[in-house]
Amino acid sequence: MDWIDLRSDTVTQPTAAMREAMLGAAVGDDVYGEDPTVNALQQRLADDLGFEAGLFVPSGTQSNLVGLMAHCQRGDEYLVGMEAHTFKYEGGGAAVLGSIQPQPIVQAADGTLPLDAVERAIKPIDPHFARTRLLCLENTWHGCVLPMEYLAQARELCDRRGLALHLDGARLFNAAVALGVPAREIARHFDSVSVCLSKGLGAPVGSVLLGTQALIDSARRWRKVVGGGMRQAGILAAAGLHALDHHVARLADDHARAERLSEALRGLPGLDVVTQQTNMVFVEVPVARHDELRAQMEAARIRLSFGYTPAIRLVTHMDVDDAGLQRAIDALRAFAA
Ligand SMILES: *Cc1c(COP(=O)(O)O)cnc(C)c1O
Repeated sequence: MDWIDLRSDTVTQPTAAMREAMLGAAVGDDVYGEDPTVNALQQRLADDLGFEAGLFVPSGTQSNLVGLMAHCQRGDEYLVGMEAHTFKYEGGGAAVLGSIQPQPIVQAADGTLPLDAVERAIKPIDPHFARTRLLCLENTWHGCVLPMEYLAQARELCDRRGLALHLDGARLFNAAVALGVPAREIARHFDSVSVCLSKGLGAPVGSVLLGTQALIDSARRWRKVVGGGMRQAGILAAAGLHALDHHVARLADDHARAERLSEALRGLPGLDVVTQQTNMVFVEVPVARHDELRAQMEAARIRLSFGYTPAIRLVTHMDVDDAGLQRAIDALRAFAA
């Protein structure tokens, strides 16, 4: 029996058609800027999202890091959610490698950083303080789509207070599909956006950072410094282009399955569905029963994500079809019974 892996949307296997696209990719040395497929991917996303330039990097972590390093100098500060990926799940890279001080802000349950708290955290210009330079948002955050009017308000605040605005848009396309708007409608509020190709879009590797030409030139330099300069990377970029052509609209299927999953689990004893948005479902199970749940799921060959958040996370993606979803629902019902 195959495993049903609901831990993350990063676990997807490249499809046969994606592997074909990778096999046929034209390549060159991307450190020299000569890989035609990498250049096509960067240009494609820049055009689609309304930016001057893009930069292909090995991971979302590196994309956020070189983006922050391009925006901020040593001794600058960025404002970021306390539960944001760049602050909590990237090894402290901005501080460790960028000498950029993070100022965490307690997020609201919907993933927004309350703008009055953001404004209070901006430091006066005074040698006592780091120089507040940038606000970083994440969309989707834990599957939650940030409201469009909030993005406009955040943009207004940044313009008024002279801050840059960066989006960790690892799952930008999930947000766009959920709202039924083109991704550039979300992206247009930001000075830079990082998009992951290796999450729900199903590519094996890669993220793209978007911004002005000057910002991307600086980020390209930092990418080399942190060891992210790749050579014939067009093989990987081809997977990203294939994903953009074929795997964006289908994110709606993942969202529908996550909704079905949460509906099926709602009201089961011992399982408390906390939230479901886009392709993520969070459920609370008493900690005393986690080992039992883990063992029962292992026996049914189902993987869930324990431990990163207080709640258990279930993520739908390309490699979970209706039959797989039903198997997960049946196993969780059996646990609750
Ligand atoms: C996965 C993820 C990243 C970074 O991804 P890696 O490619 O694993 O480094 C950044 N931000 C968010 C919100 C993510 O989910």
